[in-house]
Amino acid sequence: MRLSQFLKTVWICAETQSVNHISILPVATRYYTADSGTSWNCLIIITLVSLYLEILFYLTDEVCKKLKDYGCERYQLSIDGLRKTHDAMRKKGSFDTTIEKLKCLHNAGIRSAIMTTVSGVNAEELPGIIDLVVENKVNVFAFARYAPTSIEKSTHLEPEQYRSLLEVCWQKFEQYKDSGTSFNLKDHLWTLFLHEKGLFRIPENLKDDVMYEGCNCSNCHLTILPTGDVYACRRFESNIGNVFNENLDDIFTGEKMDAFRDYDKFKKCNFCELKRFCRGCPAVAYGYTGNFYGIDPQCWKQIAS
Ligand code: SF4
Ligand code: SF4
Repeated sequence: MRLSQFLKTVWICAETQSVNHISILPVATRYYTADSGTSWNCLIIITLVSLYLEILFYLTDEVCKKLKDYGCERYQLSIDGLRKTHDAMRKKGSFDTTIEKLKCLHNAGIRSAIMTTVSGVNAEELPGIIDLVVENKVNVFAFARYAPTSIEKSTHLEPEQYRSLLEVCWQKFEQYKDSGTSFNLKDHLWTLFLHEKGLFRIPENLKDDVMYEGCNCSNCHLTILPTGDVYACRRFESNIGNVFNENLDDIFTGEKMDAFRDYDKFKKCNFCELKRFCRGCPAVAYGYTGNFYGIDPQCWKQIAS
């Protein structure tokens, strides 16, 4: 089956099915791994996401059991602050409901993941969130930085402030390493952090033209929206085609995607020894500067110019 046909099938299924009257809209994300740039190994991860915030409130034991029967292995929920902050950002009562629904997921045998989007608004609450997820036996915890759509002072974090935050989180992760909660170091600035601590070493005999790790945009990552629109990355305006009109492989290897593969254009990362392992989050840089290749506003590394 062609990839686009497969996606159409998923979309139609999601449109016509409901779980206890919950409408589920799919956002499909495909991850590719290039093998020497000539062939593809393909792992498909499809995330069903409701655009209706209320979906959380319908996650009962019965619904979770059905989700498990449908093959759902892992379910991600968001916590964006402690009670007051989270409820102000999301919906009144949603903090307590999120904690309550973790039990429904666990009872059904579904692994839970909690994701926090960090900014200047909630950064101080992050250590408390880590305590909370461990206390509630969450299986996986991760956080990513807020990618602003405009420069809002209240959301900004200074680079050194962000580094200090990673230090506090690292201490927590160490404290909880045997707790049963896994901590996903999602932000690529963790690579810088670990490199400074001597816990990440740049391997020897690297090929000059290979991006080994770091930002996945354009090397092993795509986002496909329910409309079929394909984005290089879902976190910023990066429409590169539509899967219902074009072959996905053509989109992935096409000129629009190539626009995000011009690695020498990175204003700061291009001069950094960690370029092939980090590149920060260009979506955050885009949010600040309108330039995908702009300087990551939270990168604290000093680069001699
Ligand atoms: S300059 Fe770029 S590659 Fe280097 S540490 Fe900062 S974000 Fe990462
Ligand atoms: S731009 Fe940021 S969010 Fe998008 S793939 Fe790269 S690191 Fe991830």
